[in-house]
Amino acid sequence: MCSWKFALNYVLGLREKPNHKAELGNMVHKALELLAHRRVCEQEGRAWFEEPEIGLAFRADRMTVEAAADFGFEHYKKKNESQHNWTESFREQVHHLTRHTVEFNDGMFSPLKRKVIAPEQYFDLPINEPWAYYDFKDPFTGNRIKGQLAIKGTVDLLTEGLTDVLEYLDWKTGARKNWATGDVKTYVKLRNDSQLLLYFYALSRLYPQYRYIFTTIFFCRDGGPYTLHFSREEDIPRALDMLKTNFEAIKNTQRPARIWDDPEERRRVCFSFCSYGKTKHPQSGKTLCTHYYQELQQLGMDRLMVKHGVAGAFGQYGSGGGSSNRD
Ligand code: SF4
Repeated sequence: MCSWKFALNYVLGLREKPNHKAELGNMVHKALELLAHRRVCEQEGRAWFEEPEIGLAFRADRMTVEAAADFGFEHYKKKNESQHNWTESFREQVHHLTRHTVEFNDGMFSPLKRKVIAPEQYFDLPINEPWAYYDFKDPFTGNRIKGQLAIKGTVDLLTEGLTDVLEYLDWKTGARKNWATGDVKTYVKLRNDSQLLLYFYALSRLYPQYRYIFTTIFFCRDGGPYTLHFSREEDIPRALDMLKTNFEAIKNTQRPARIWDDPEERRRVCFSFCSYGKTKHPQSGKTLCTHYYQELQQLGMDRLMVKHGVAGAFGQYGSGGGSSNRD
């Protein structure tokens, strides 16, 4: 979407604070995850489960849809108490979206009515391809960094349908559109969606025993479920091609470009959801985006990293796509 935003996040190590909409997604995800844990208890005849992120134990039979939505809301509210005004109408939205997802078409996609394989699945997989190696000198520390590309992420809910069929359910609480282009996501566009392709690739490596992997992307407030089938024969090579293209584009970028200079893109992307275009730098009073971009023009990337870098910033996966901000 914007190379400069990527550089601010993953090279200079600035971090955006989660916005209201991302937090709403996290709350609904948490609620649905708790219901999936309840389902696993039912499958295994257990009365209790432990929520892995916070380590609290819950009685499965008390984890109703309402209790799960309340917990999701309270958990993230507490985490970011000072950053947002968490009104009761926000709580109601969490309840509404959770209920709507669970009740859709008689509970067709409800974790409570599925055979759950994993309420969440984390992955961290090295890419064993000749192009996936890197070797460079870190301008910030002066150290040589050598390694191999690895992909990391968390998929939402894995269920088993028929024998041989693994179905991955991905919850989305935002609009059904591509934020980089503004286009509505159709079936055809979803087949080329890089996140879905990447997750399919990861699941095909983690679950070789399943012959078929279906992906359902469920837009909780914008159209409901879209189910796709990716095939190992055709889509693993496509996923690797996509990774290679992106990896090489990142590796070869000497001076990241920003989309701010295009007035249309600035209106559509920068002001709507990038905090670097809104937050002011305390000394210069310019936006963080502009402040550091002007320094980039003066210093170049290497010296900018020496001046403002954070040790290990580019090696951190953090929470994006992990245990929070998954939407
Ligand atoms: S404000 Fe716009 S140009 Fe600046 S980093 Fe964010 S998306 Fe990129």
